[in-house]
Amino acid sequence: VETPPDFQSFDELDLSPIMRKAVAEAGFTKPSPIQAALIPHALAGTDVIGQARTGTGKTAAFSIPILEQLDSLEDCRDPQALIIVPTRELADQVAGEAARLAYGLPTEIAVLSGGKNMTKQLRQLENGVQIVVGTPGRVHDHLQRGTLRTNKVWSVVLDEADRMLDIGFRPQIERILRKCPRNRQTLLLSATLPAVVRRLAESYMVQPVVIDCCRNEMAVETIEQRYFTISQERKVELLEKLLKRENPEQAIIFCRTKRGTDRLYRQLSHDYHGACGAMHGDMQQRERDRVLQSLRDRKLKILVATDVVGRGIDITTISHIINFDVPQDCDDYVHRVGRTGRMGRDGVAYTFVVPGEGEVLTSIEQRINKLLIRDTMEGFDAPP
Ligand code: ADP
Ligand code: MG
Repeated sequence: VETPPDFQSFDELDLSPIMRKAVAEAGFTKPSPIQAALIPHALAGTDVIGQARTGTGKTAAFSIPILEQLDSLEDCRDPQALIIVPTRELADQVAGEAARLAYGLPTEIAVLSGGKNMTKQLRQLENGVQIVVGTPGRVHDHLQRGTLRTNKVWSVVLDEADRMLDIGFRPQIERILRKCPRNRQTLLLSATLPAVVRRLAESYMVQPVVIDCCRNEMAVETIEQRYFTISQERKVELLEKLLKRENPEQAIIFCRTKRGTDRLYRQLSHDYHGACGAMHGDMQQRERDRVLQSLRDRKLKILVATDVVGRGIDITTISHIINFDVPQDCDDYVHRVGRTGRMGRDGVAYTFVVPGEGEVLTSIEQRINKLLIRDTMEGFDAPP
């Protein structure tokens, strides 16, 4: 396991002049720890398992070395890099960040995700693509149809790798990896990489270097983490009071289920008419895109959502995370809370705990190696 070098500037990395311009233009002055550690290995073609906290620039860490080594479209019309991410929204976001770092150099990036126009994707693949960013289902679909050629792929990235290798996506991921050339490079990134996932991952990789920028400190220090003990019946009431007290710049409120998300959204819509949105997996893609765009444009103050937005989404103005329902597991907690406090910014996270969920709270605290602060609100005496 390697500890990252502490580079003070991007000049200490061996980057081309155009890439230095691109990072400067993006407003990056100093490489983050994961960038300093990963970029040299990735440029050398080494396989890497990289763990780094939420909001610390993992996207640029894998995008920069890919862009640096890309052959032009004239030299190669088939995809050279394959970036797989768990959600459609994240695919769009990662493609956007890669395009930004390409700094106006002609770079063909195709987003292959579900819920989007297949004809457009096919046409794009026909015309030649250098980088593919996609979700496991749709990428696999294109492989089966023979519309995505992988024989020229030299880099495969699994972003949010633990989510990608969990039960749901594993069969597709395994088939995608088997279809790519054996001498390719594989990069695995996440804020949470349980030992079992690392071991599994190693079977797809060649002598991977392990970079751990977390050192067991899972929580981002700039995020204040608090909890309320509250009965299920009074959660909405508490939430309304909390939102008044905090007046968040922007907040994401996480619910366990799609129905619960819809219900809470309707309840909040009275007070936050037009400034509140909802997002979950049963919504039309067009609607999901519209809601996320409104959040990015700061037209929405509040987003009520399931864990579909728990992973990877980068909106730096999100000041508050509220776990209206406790997350399914501790790693989901880390990712939800990580939607705030990005790149050293401040953030606050609240978790509503109903009596009987004490064990969940304890396991979260063990996971992040930190105690949550108990909060209280007048009129909401903690139940025994
Ligand atoms: P992660 O994947 O680790 O959660 P992201 O890749 O989404 O984090 O990056 C978080 C934010 O930080 C993005 O807005 C990104 O543009 C920005 N960023 C990335 N690298 C740097 C850097 N070296 N300096 C400043 N900001 C950066
Ligand atoms: Mg990320």
